[in-house]
Amino acid sequence: VSCDEARPLLSAYVDGELDLLRSLDLEKHLATCASCSEARDALLALGRSLKGLREAPPEGLEERVRRRLRREGGGRPSPLPWGWAAAAVFAVALLYRPAPDEGLSREVVSGHIRSLLPNRLVDVVSSDRHTVKPYFHGLLDFAPPVPDLEASGFSLVGGRVDVVEGRRVAALVYKKRQHVVNVFVWPGRSSARALQDGGYSVLSFESGGFVFWAVSDLDQGDLRSFERNVVSALASP
Ligand SMILES: [Zn+2]
Repeated sequence: VSCDEARPLLSAYVDGELDLLRSLDLEKHLATCASCSEARDALLALGRSLKGLREAPPEGLEERVRRRLRREGGGRPSPLPWGWAAAAVFAVALLYRPAPDEGLSREVVSGHIRSLLPNRLVDVVSSDRHTVKPYFHGLLDFAPPVPDLEASGFSLVGGRVDVVEGRRVAALVYKKRQHVVNVFVWPGRSSARALQDGGYSVLSFESGGFVFWAVSDLDQGDLRSFERNVVSALASP
């Protein structure tokens, strides 16, 4: 078996779809051809990567692929299957990076848990948004909106200043059926995103030029309803 014959068979080989005779021929070639066995290793790594998307990338995978791409970029043109496999492995390695939102979600969930420790929930205790809103004056470099959601079953409990990504943000606290909803608010933009994190529901959305991250042990449906009510409250203050 030559390299040209071996390359097209590699994919079927690593998937276990090659018949025994051709597998044996191919293995004979792989035993003596470093370039084809590297291509096989890349396909195997790709297969593992796709199976374990939630796991960390294999140690050194990205560096290995980068090195290989650099080498090939300077040398002779590579056979297509290997080049394709390398690009795919590289793309998968990039997919492993946690989205920035996952880090944020971790932070707001930690903030939520911290707030449930004794005496941490609110620094200003009031169900009146006209009391809660001025509280932030001088503590934050922005004036957070404090929507009144009483009619939709979310009672304002109060607020506090919290820290997310190293900046001070407003944490508004609401309760629905005795469940605490922490809402972290700061100016900015965000696409809507719903996550489950350690048993907590997390929902981020944007309204009126502010980013909202709501965390609670309520379910996503409740947080969606929370979002709808915030958006409509801010649209008609
Ligand atoms: Zn070969």
